Amino acid sequence: MPQITMKGVSKNFGDVTVIPRFDASIDDGEFLVLLGPSGCGKSTLLRMIAGLTDISAGTLSFDGEDVNDWTPSRRGVAFVFQSYALYPHMTVRENIAFPLLMDAFRKWHHIPLLSSIMRWKLMRRPDIVERTNQIAEQLELAPLMNRRPASLSGGQRQRVALARSLVRNPSLYLLDEPLSNLDAKLRTQMRSEISTLHQRVRKTFVYVTHDQVEAMTMATKIIVMNRGEIQQIGTPDEIYEHPANTFVARFVGAPP
Ligand code: ADP
Ligand code: MG
Repeated sequence: MPQITMKGVSKNFGDVTVIPRFDASIDDGEFLVLLGPSGCGKSTLLRMIAGLTDISAGTLSFDGEDVNDWTPSRRGVAFVFQSYALYPHMTVRENIAFPLLMDAFRKWHHIPLLSSIMRWKLMRRPDIVERTNQIAEQLELAPLMNRRPASLSGGQRQRVALARSLVRNPSLYLLDEPLSNLDAKLRTQMRSEISTLHQRVRKTFVYVTHDQVEAMTMATKIIVMNRGEIQQIGTPDEIYEHPANTFVARFVGAPP
């Protein structure tokens, strides 16, 4: 059974229709890339999957269950954005563990203030230590754990931000143009790191980009979009070799 199913999913902002009708399914373990020009509705679609914005009509289901009323946390998604901010006064280890600390902390308190003593105590909890080390290893951050963000390169900071987004061990990874603020060299490196992460964790990834090269090199399946509508669904090879129309051919740079 496909993990995520969208049937007639649409989105309006006021009387502007951004996604008229979206029908697609995303298989378990897929690296699905949503590819299309700026403004075509990629982020909106991802935010609907995450539960960060409502769908206007249609059904969205995970493993056959309608998730319309589910909060983002119940959906078990990790959402990675292009912009990120690390806590400058915390170490890399604390930055990565932060979502786990907040989860643990919220169970006891209603005030959103985590004291440094509480942080110190929670950082020693075995489950938190283990999970933090595990994700740090997956992203090759282990040697940097005691450093502070100011002493890291841009690429290392981006990796810490990625680790922090993923530390809750999500079942679904949603990434919205996570590399678009990086220079070309770093982008190439992070591309292969994210692909490696996908192979290691064997979960479903939905990755939004307007970059054809990212789509072609990372995806197991691509949905090409224009103006909120699906132009083609296929593997990178299928889309490159047999573009469905001139829009796709132009956009992926393949001969029509
Ligand atoms: P993409 O991520 O592909 O660049 P978006 O999903 O961000 O596209 O936006 C698709 C369209 O929806 C754009 O025309 C954008 O202006 C519009 N849009 C997105 N969010 C909102 C919003 N909160 N209110 C009104 N219009 C929006
Ligand atoms: Mg966007």
